[in-house]
Amino acid sequence: MRRRILTGLPIDVAEMQHAILTEIHAAFQADQRRTMQHVINATGVLLHTNLGRAPLADKAVERMRQAVAYTNLELELESGKRSRRGARVCELLAELAGAEDAVVVNNCAAATMLVLNCIASAKEVIVSRGQLVEIGGGFRLPEVFESANVRLREVGTTNRTYVRDYEAAISEMTGAILRVHRSNFFQTGFVAEPTIEELASIRRPKSLPVIDDLGSGCVVDLAPLGLCEPTVQNSVQKGADLCLFSGDKLFGGPQCGIVVGKKIWMEQLRGTPFMRALRADKLTLAALEATTEIHLAGRSVQQLPVYQMLARRPEDIRAQCARVINELTRIAERDHFQPPAMRILECQSEIGGGSMPGVHLSSFGICVECESPENLAADLRSGAPAILCRLTQDRLLLDLRTVLPHEVDDLLLGLSGNISSRFSRQETPLAPQVPPSNPDSTTEIS
Ligand SMILES: *Cc1c(COP(=O)(O)O)cnc(C)c1O
Repeated sequence: MRRRILTGLPIDVAEMQHAILTEIHAAFQADQRRTMQHVINATGVLLHTNLGRAPLADKAVERMRQAVAYTNLELELESGKRSRRGARVCELLAELAGAEDAVVVNNCAAATMLVLNCIASAKEVIVSRGQLVEIGGGFRLPEVFESANVRLREVGTTNRTYVRDYEAAISEMTGAILRVHRSNFFQTGFVAEPTIEELASIRRPKSLPVIDDLGSGCVVDLAPLGLCEPTVQNSVQKGADLCLFSGDKLFGGPQCGIVVGKKIWMEQLRGTPFMRALRADKLTLAALEATTEIHLAGRSVQQLPVYQMLARRPEDIRAQCARVINELTRIAERDHFQPPAMRILECQSEIGGGSMPGVHLSSFGICVECESPENLAADLRSGAPAILCRLTQDRLLLDLRTVLPHEVDDLLLGLSGNISSRFSRQETPLAPQVPPSNPDSTTEIS
């Protein structure tokens, strides 16, 4: 604009003002869309890392609200004395896991670094070649070992590692035995690896720690839901000295890394300067405390969103799809726009977040017919509220397993806002081609 003024050519001030305001407004809007906000997850991926993994339980949110102002983070109210940060939540975690003690850090990656560096610095840690994993985001176990100043002692082969491989590798240089749960891929066929129980039984001396990196941190028996995932309790019971897992995967809580195990090791972890650098903040500890209470009370499926989503029956999800379609059709009639054709499709939800690869849950989604699914998906993402959907085989699909019933109103708001502007825009030119609304087309299952 300045350049235009400097050319000396005549300018229309009002027009220029308008153009500047329009640009400022657009830039402001674009910035507002980048603020952290609630988004509707209709991708069907339960623990979506890009969407913040586990949604928190109401109780966890309430406990965080309690902690936003001053809170008894490191103070014992009864005595007025200083207390250890997160002392209570660590006690609860230990109780839940059946372990002696617990430590909480920023995430499971931090827990891995802390444990290796603190327990086995300058020593060797024995790991099976079948478990030298990359977690994602460049967190690769061999490199983690290097950063943690631990020497990697690989044993076995990619597909089979035996107890005797570990036995042969143990020496005075050994600092620990590590087992890593293959949480983000699976092996099948000619495969074998020892159990934690076997690893705990062969170590010499008996004080040599066995570390179990469980990653997804399941503390609930998922067998009734037809799923199979190793539990933290089982790992502790079978003899792991330190178990590591994430707070925001199957534990269903805030992002954090949880270590449970023997008191001597937990005290050693607490004593390192690293602990101070990796410690969790008060909001995380508050949410974790409430989440752990829910597990301890046996109310996981009732109160934790991740478990509510896991436990939803496909027929209930299908009924919710039908309700959303009916409601959208009603809104379209009221607001005089032509709704797009929508169908209910059977689909598969995923756990995500690097948990239970290859596990699919039967679900149902709404397929919105449109010329450009990509464009509609982009519009839905930038709407208010933002809606994230799935694009498969040139189709736009809203998997409603990950949209809990209390989010349906928000979903309708986002969908109808977008669809009304989009489809009324096209209404005039497209009007003759729009097929008459066919009630069957809204309930078709393929
Ligand atoms: C996910 C995962 C981690 C990392 O956990 P974050 O909490 O994301 O840091 C570590 N180990 C395993 C086996 C995992 O599955």
